Amino acid sequence: RTPAPKRGEILYAFGALMAEHKERLARAMTREMGKVLAEARGDVQEGIDIAYLMAGEGRRMAGETVPSELPDKWAMSIRQPLGVAGIITPWNFPMAIPCWKTMPALVTGNTVVFKPSSDTPHCATLLVELMAEAGFPPGVVNLVTGSGGEVGDAIVDSPDVSIISFTGSSTTGREIAQRAARRLKRVSLELGGKNGVVVLGDADLDLATDGVLWSAFGTTGQRCTAASRVIVERSVVEPLLQRLEARTRALRLGSGLDPAVDVGPLINAGAVDKVDSYVGIGRTEAELVLGGRRATEGDLAGGHFFEPTIFAAVGAMDRIGQEEIFGPVLSVIPVDDYGSAMLALNQTRYGLSSSVFTRDINKAFRAMRDFETGIVYVNAGTTGAEVHLPFGGWKETGNGHREAGHIALDTYTEWKSIYVDFSGRLQRAQIDNQPA
Ligand code: NAP
Repeated sequence: RTPAPKRGEILYAFGALMAEHKERLARAMTREMGKVLAEARGDVQEGIDIAYLMAGEGRRMAGETVPSELPDKWAMSIRQPLGVAGIITPWNFPMAIPCWKTMPALVTGNTVVFKPSSDTPHCATLLVELMAEAGFPPGVVNLVTGSGGEVGDAIVDSPDVSIISFTGSSTTGREIAQRAARRLKRVSLELGGKNGVVVLGDADLDLATDGVLWSAFGTTGQRCTAASRVIVERSVVEPLLQRLEARTRALRLGSGLDPAVDVGPLINAGAVDKVDSYVGIGRTEAELVLGGRRATEGDLAGGHFFEPTIFAAVGAMDRIGQEEIFGPVLSVIPVDDYGSAMLALNQTRYGLSSSVFTRDINKAFRAMRDFETGIVYVNAGTTGAEVHLPFGGWKETGNGHREAGHIALDTYTEWKSIYVDFSGRLQRAQIDNQPA
C-alpha cells in the first residue's frame, strides 16, 4: 500500500547511497570476482543508473485511459504488483544485474527474494545492506545465499513466489523454465550469448580494432554481451588481424586492483578448465594466432588467469564459432561480402548483441534491419548498453522478456482493466450499442 512515488523515493535514496559508496563497492567487487576496477566502477554505476531511472517510474508507471464505447462509462488500465519476485543472478555483473531486477520489482510494489551467485555473495550482501539503509521496510528485500540446487530450486518451486527473474546460462534457464511451468509461473530469462562483430571492407579499421578488443577481452570475455566472433570481409582480414594481434599482445594480464592491468582473472578454476578445453578444440579447427595458455608463471601462477587468445580462419559453424566459451577467446571468421557476413552472424542459436563496422550508410541500415539480436551497435563494439532502452536477447538468449527501460515494468506487474459505469443503468457493451 505504500504509494508508488514514496517507493520511488526509497529507490532514489538507494541510488544516492550507491553513488556515495561507489568506490568501496567497486573495490569489493574486484576483490570478490576479479573484474578490473574501472569496469567494477561501471558495474556499480549501472546499478545507480537503474535505481534513478526506476525511482522516476514511481511517478510515471502509466496505464491507459481510453474512451468507452458506451455513454457515461469510464475505461482504464493500471499495473499492479505480482507479489513476491524471486531474483536469481550470475556473478559477472554482481551489482548491476541484481539492481536491474530488484529496482523495477520494488518500485512496482513487489517484495523480493534475491539469490545471488555462489561466487559473489559478498557483493550481494553489500547491496542489500544499502537497501536496508535506504529505507525499504523490513521484509521487503530478502537475501538468501546458497547453491542453485538448494536455494534456487526452493525459490522456483515456492507457490508464494509469483515471478522468477533469472540471468545466467541457457542450461540453467531452461531447467528453471521447466520447473516453473509446472506452476504456470511467470519466468523472465536472460541467458547465454555468442555475440559477433561484423567488420566490412570499408570500415575504419583502427576504430574496429578498438571496438573488437574492448568487446572481446573486457571483463576477460565474461560479459553477456562480449564479442567472441569477429566476422570480417576477406579484403581486410590481414590488416585487421595485424592490428588485433599487436594490440592484444600489449594487454596486461593481472590483478584487477592494479590500474595498469587491462585483463583480470577468470571467475574460478572451472572457468579456466572450460576455456582451456575450448582452446584445445580451436587448435583442431582453426589457426591459433596468439595466446592459448593458462598463466602458470610469476605472480599469476595459482590464480585463474588465461592469456587473451585469438584464432584465425575459423568457420562460422566450427564449435569455437558457435558455442559460448565465456572467456578471452576471439574467433576471426573470414567472409566474402555483406550477405555472407549477415548469414554467419545470424547462424547461431543465441541473439543478444551484435555490431557492424562500416562507412556505408546503406549497409549500416541493412545490418540494423537484418541482424537477429536484441541489441545492434553501428561503429561500436557489442557492449555498452544504457539503462533506459530495453535489454535482452532473441532466440535462445531469452524468452521474450526485457530488462531495463520502462518495459522492464512488464515483467513485474499484472495488468488490470477497470470499467466504471456512471450511467445508473445496465449497459451491455457490443449488444446495447450495436444493431441486432
Ligand atoms: P549459471 O551457472 O546458470 O548460474 C546463474 C545463477 O543461477 C546462479 O545464482 C546459480 O547459483 C543459479 N542456479 C544454478 N542452478 C540453479 C537451479 N537449478 N535453480 C535455480 N538457480 C540455479 O550462470 P553463471 O555461470 O553464473 O553466469 C554465466 C552465464 O550467464 C553465461 O551463460 C552468460 O551468458 C549469462 N549471462 C547472461 C546475461 C544476459 O543478460 N543475457 C547477462 C549476464 C550473464 P550458484 O551460483 O549457486 O550455482
